[in-house]
Amino acid sequence: MGLVVQKFGGSSVATAEKYRRVARRIAWKKRQGNDVVVVVSAPGDMTDDLIERARSITDRPSAREMDVLLATGEQISIALLTMALHELGVDAVSLTGPQAGFQTDDHHRAARIVNIDTARIRRELAAGRVVIVAGFQGMDDHGDITTLGRGGSDASAIALAAYLSADQCQIFTDVDGVYSADPRIVPTARRLDEISYDEVLELAAAGAQVMQLRSVELAKQYGVEFEVLSSLAPLPDEGGEERGTKVVAKLSPNNHRIVSGVAVDSKVAHITLLGLPDRPGVAYRAFKALGDARINLDMIVQSAGTGCGNGPTADISFTCARDDLETALEVCNRLLPEFPGARVVYDTDVAKVSIVGSGVASNYGVAARMFEALAEKDINIELITGSEIKISCLVRASRAMEAVRAVHDKFELGDVAPIVQ
Ligand code: ADP
Ligand code: ASP
Ligand code: MG
Repeated sequence: MGLVVQKFGGSSVATAEKYRRVARRIAWKKRQGNDVVVVVSAPGDMTDDLIERARSITDRPSAREMDVLLATGEQISIALLTMALHELGVDAVSLTGPQAGFQTDDHHRAARIVNIDTARIRRELAAGRVVIVAGFQGMDDHGDITTLGRGGSDASAIALAAYLSADQCQIFTDVDGVYSADPRIVPTARRLDEISYDEVLELAAAGAQVMQLRSVELAKQYGVEFEVLSSLAPLPDEGGEERGTKVVAKLSPNNHRIVSGVAVDSKVAHITLLGLPDRPGVAYRAFKALGDARINLDMIVQSAGTGCGNGPTADISFTCARDDLETALEVCNRLLPEFPGARVVYDTDVAKVSIVGSGVASNYGVAARMFEALAEKDINIELITGSEIKISCLVRASRAMEAVRAVHDKFELGDVAPIVQ
């Protein structure tokens, strides 16, 4: 018994039948004596469809109007899910993000939650109701609707669990946990019983869609442990168990693995600034401008300086989300006049393949094994970066899936992964 926050993603509410199943799952949780707050996403691919509809009107929609449009998807979901609960005789009420007290900054399409005023939710819970909250949305100081970035309902759920000091936070999706790789790409991928915030953070940053990156940052910041589960699994009142992947601050000793998972990000762009002057302050100048434009940079590699005509020069390569390419190129082109002779080139036919694990830095030969897997398939590596718990390689997009499977096989992640000594 306690306060439970459950989140259901778009795939869990893609059809009327799925809304009914989700409602039964919620009703069961409530019957166990819990207070239940549910965060729900827009049904199926509705958010993508809404983006397409905006594109049919304009190439450059205003971010504010996009938020007004995109927030409608979640609003449809909360109403339908609440109706499905009423059909089961469960007292429930739907709340939009603003009604539920989500206050955000005013960065439309990528807003950050600054506070959740939980008074209304608490009143509804005290009245014995299940509260169904629209994920992905809030309101800024000007009273305008904002959205939290793609996949943002995960962040809504984790933040709500933190602000309500929930006893349990369950993220239901269309897979029964976090796997050693996307099971849609690697059929032999293995479900992990437990994974640390840091590993999920790195997997999310590496492109594993299962949890939104920002939501895991919030979980780590607020210490919200949560579980990833399948909404498609048998219902508890049909004898099904609630079994998924626990995302925890600290792994239990027998869950330490050298490599936990492999991820691929196909939505990246590779930009290179060629022939920059090789002197202090140049990288700062370029990356400050990109940062000011709110572009998240990922792999950053600077080549060793080479001497020529106007003095030593260096090339700086980086990757960013493909959606940010246009803005990043605008920023780079604006900078070029400051650096005579420099030019910018880009490539979108690339994908990033990464391995993630708590033993990556502390075990010899991990990088070599990854490179060996790619070499055996004759896959060229175009950029390499590494951190304590991650190694990423940029490869041709056409070879990415093969690369993921080869690396997954090389580390034998489909079997029991080697335990760190
Ligand atoms: P939701 O609609 O519930 O938010 P998402 O589509 O955002 O669901 O995320 C679930 C999907 O994430 C799965 O269908 C799976 O294909 C993908 N995925 C990618 N990497 C992983 C992984 N390592 N483990 C589990 N699922 C993954
Ligand atoms: N509906 C939003 C999206 O598709 C938010 C979410 O599903 O988490 O990005
Ligand atoms: Mg999602």
